[in-house]
Amino acid sequence: LFITLEGVDGAGKSTHMKWLPDFFANQGLEVVMTREPGGTPVGEKLREILLHDAMSQETEALLMFASRQENINQLIKPALAAGKLLLCDRFTDSTYAYQGGGRHFDLNKIAALENWVQEGLNPDLTLLFDVPLEVSRERLGRHGASLDRFEQENDVFFEAVRSAYLQRAANEPQRFLLIDSTRPFEEVRKFVETRLLQFIGL
Ligand code: C5P
Repeated sequence: LFITLEGVDGAGKSTHMKWLPDFFANQGLEVVMTREPGGTPVGEKLREILLHDAMSQETEALLMFASRQENINQLIKPALAAGKLLLCDRFTDSTYAYQGGGRHFDLNKIAALENWVQEGLNPDLTLLFDVPLEVSRERLGRHGASLDRFEQENDVFFEAVRSAYLQRAANEPQRFLLIDSTRPFEEVRKFVETRLLQFIGL
């Protein structure tokens, strides 16, 4: 099983990423976790560059997919081949949302890279943590000064990222679990647990 977590910065994705591995382990599943950009030695170096260095849109999109290729070859494919559950913090939906929606990068180019790098490999399930802009802003504000290059973007950028996510979820309702992440943590967690148990039971 290949499961991804998505959402705008400050939507609560990382908070929920913390309990998910134990939850799956308790269901008897072997879990491998990774993130994008990052996850592998090369991917983590690319992450540092992506989060802090200014670059063209094209380079940004290419480096995101370079990080993804490393993840696929080194972690995702081997884990899936071994029958493990692969949990990835962000995947290609992030590229459609941030580079496509936020930066207006050509969606056809993203699709071309997606075909080239993934060769049909797609998540079985995507958890989309959704919050309106005010909530994500407020939560990010609490993190203090260390905002990365993307988190410093303006409201127009984040609205575009969020609507690109929601659009993708609407287009592929069978793959996406849309989560109202404005709800209190325990409530969100219970909702996600229930839906995951249904999903695993299939
Ligand atoms: O989720 P996390 O905070 O680890 O993501 C790192 C940063 O990279 C975020 O600010 C996210 O918005 C950005 N990102 C991006 N495009 C992607 C993946 C991540 O802009 N395809």
